[in-house]
Amino acid sequence: MRPVPALLAVCFVGFMSNSSVAQTSRAWKMHDMSRPHPPVVVVPDQDHPVPPPSDAVVLFDGRDLSHWRGKDGGPAPWTVRDGYLETVPGSGNISTRESFGDVQLHIEWAAPVPARGSGQARGNSGVFLMGLYEIQILDSYNSDTYADGQAAAVYGQYPPLANASRPPGQWQAYDIVFRHPRFDTSGALLRPARVTVLHNGILVQDNVKLTGPTSWLQNAPYKAHADRLPFSLQDHSSLVRFRNIWARDLGRQEEEAELTPLSGKPPSLPRGELDRYLGTYATPDGFKIVVARDGDQLRMSVSSDSVLLETTSAFEFSLVGVDGKLEFALDNKGVPERCTFHIGGEQIVLSRGR
Ligand code: MG
Repeated sequence: MRPVPALLAVCFVGFMSNSSVAQTSRAWKMHDMSRPHPPVVVVPDQDHPVPPPSDAVVLFDGRDLSHWRGKDGGPAPWTVRDGYLETVPGSGNISTRESFGDVQLHIEWAAPVPARGSGQARGNSGVFLMGLYEIQILDSYNSDTYADGQAAAVYGQYPPLANASRPPGQWQAYDIVFRHPRFDTSGALLRPARVTVLHNGILVQDNVKLTGPTSWLQNAPYKAHADRLPFSLQDHSSLVRFRNIWARDLGRQEEEAELTPLSGKPPSLPRGELDRYLGTYATPDGFKIVVARDGDQLRMSVSSDSVLLETTSAFEFSLVGVDGKLEFALDNKGVPERCTFHIGGEQIVLSRGR
């Protein structure tokens, strides 16, 4: 059996709008101690770093800080030792030399041992996306603080969906997907930043919309900025370690997808000309396409799936919203003898039923 129905099924799923359920921020005050804490999830130990894929920019591979700079723009002053990077308290944040916009970021970190301090003073650092939007790094293993400031919180905005913290000293991973905010040419916000975070493989931020830059004690509003900026790691006076940091540029795929029109009336031929294509077309091994009229359009069906057709010439019809087409071959009386179905790089020739 040919795999065509399955291919079509995949295409049709793409038609459906896929709205994700974002975490909603109720009327909690920032750093509200009465805001409920997420449940604790016990995650297994992970001793080995997750290797970067081929298209990643490797920002720290355990050897040097050539991809980083210090707060004054000079060489990053943090310590590299035994394959990891460690904050130097008081030296300031470090930032990437490369800039990023929409990005997938992998970073592994470990809180200091023995654990010292409590609340926000216990193993605090952070990943500042674009230098402005912090995903909190904190030792939140058996340690309490306000929910919107614990590990994997969008600081001051969204607590994580779960506390997936490993004990201090163990390596932990953040996998972050970040969509930067969009501003128009006048600087007005078109779309807020969004972020998804997995903490040790557990979904903890589900495409949340940031209310603005993260900050302490205030809800800071958005201010227009560049589409690409460096990200930084926070020096919060704790000895936090990092290793295996890599990023994948996500480009502008999302906008392109959003701009693909799927509605509107496709062009067509007069009904009389369409009607000559009506009928059932089949391969010798039994794969069938039924072509019917749907108002002023043709519609093709395969099993229970169907799609409208858009006229591209007198003999050729493309599938609306799907990268595929039907191409008809006519006999010398102008009657269709067969059609070729182009889909997923395959061409399937079907004869018309008599
Ligand atoms: Mg922090």
